[in-house]
Amino acid sequence: MFFTGLRCVGCGETHQPDRDLLLCPACDNLLDAIYDYEGMRHRIDRDAVAARPHGVWRWHELLPILDRDAIVTLGEGDTPILRCNRLAEYAGVRELWVKSDGSNPTGSLKDRSVTVAATKAVEFGYSVLSCDSTGNKASSVAAYAARAGLSSVVFCPQDTPLPKVTQAVFFGARLMRVDGHYSEVNAMYRRLIKSGEVKWYDCGTDNPFRYEGKKSYAYEIAQDFGWKVPDRVVLPVNGGMALAKSWKGFKELKELGWIDRLPTLVAVQAAECAPIVQSFLAGEQRVAPVKKGPTISSAIAGADPGLLGDRTLKALYESGGDAMGVSDDEALRAMEMLGKEGLFVEPSGAVAIAGLRRLVAEKRVDPAEKVVCVLTGSGFKDIDPIAERVVIGDAIIRNYDEMRAVSSTI
Ligand SMILES: *Cc1c(COP(=O)(O)O)cnc(C)c1O
Ligand SMILES: [Zn+2]
Repeated sequence: MFFTGLRCVGCGETHQPDRDLLLCPACDNLLDAIYDYEGMRHRIDRDAVAARPHGVWRWHELLPILDRDAIVTLGEGDTPILRCNRLAEYAGVRELWVKSDGSNPTGSLKDRSVTVAATKAVEFGYSVLSCDSTGNKASSVAAYAARAGLSSVVFCPQDTPLPKVTQAVFFGARLMRVDGHYSEVNAMYRRLIKSGEVKWYDCGTDNPFRYEGKKSYAYEIAQDFGWKVPDRVVLPVNGGMALAKSWKGFKELKELGWIDRLPTLVAVQAAECAPIVQSFLAGEQRVAPVKKGPTISSAIAGADPGLLGDRTLKALYESGGDAMGVSDDEALRAMEMLGKEGLFVEPSGAVAIAGLRRLVAEKRVDPAEKVVCVLTGSGFKDIDPIAERVVIGDAIIRNYDEMRAVSSTI
């Protein structure tokens, strides 16, 4: 076991690896899992890890668990990495790859992290998983709870896309819809968890164990490219857990000597709700909340990312990164361009392509770069904006002659 404990990112205090903690007991800041990299370096071979059965858990030495028998998995991770030449032309870069995370078990990136949270719930002996969510986390938590034979409670904004809450309820979650946008739901939910009045395992925003699952992006992308990392990785960002933890993952690989350089990271948000982009461009160290405007990218419409947002900013600065807000029109156009490559992506995931295109147009990305865009959710998860863009004719063929006649006109 190389997981050695939790360290507070604020006061630096460390805690034993078997502690059931969310925030630092001393100062309420975020906790970060720590590992014995020195020990790992001599005992683990990157190519041996790469050859293990697919999925997030092949990297178990780099994940914060103590009991491998507790692992709750649905086969998450190792999603397709695809080179897309037409999209490269659209975005304006030489070489564009996408990481198609809609292929995860419940259709979004959330499975990468929830698999770890569910495993910790089993280790700690909980019987109920809970979270607040813009929808994808809710369906993921519900699925992993079902898989583990546990129950789940999920809190979502009232206008969460129907496929996401349908999935959650289908998996047996108690769904609580809340009048308010995500950051409002989040503030109330945090208060509820902090009150100690519920005995649920919180898989929401501040769970330090759940965070670690997102490092698998870095591991997979590095391995996908034969341990030669691409120049740039572009991610849709809500609080930025995926971005901050991808950064941690790449740094770990460098520390282990498995890769020799780090990529630049880019955060993309919806322009109408872009606290991280705004604070980054203003050079702030802490994210200032924004007033949420209307956006189609509901999965990433967090107006107040809190402490996690500060970590995201730090990762952006450290990686020499950039950040971009895109309009709904740009997100929808990117979604349609993805469709031309056979990729079915929800608008919140398609923003990565839209953001890259804007950065190239503004000469903030060198067109000679090799770039990976992470597509975080499947089109099935937010089907309405897609359904609005297709016309299904109402003609019905009644017999063979009609089929033949119609076919001769195609
Ligand atoms: C949750 C989510 C994200 C990003 O969330 P982070 O908290 O920033 O990691 C991006 N896209 C989709 C579709 C999501 O559901
Ligand atoms: Zn602390």
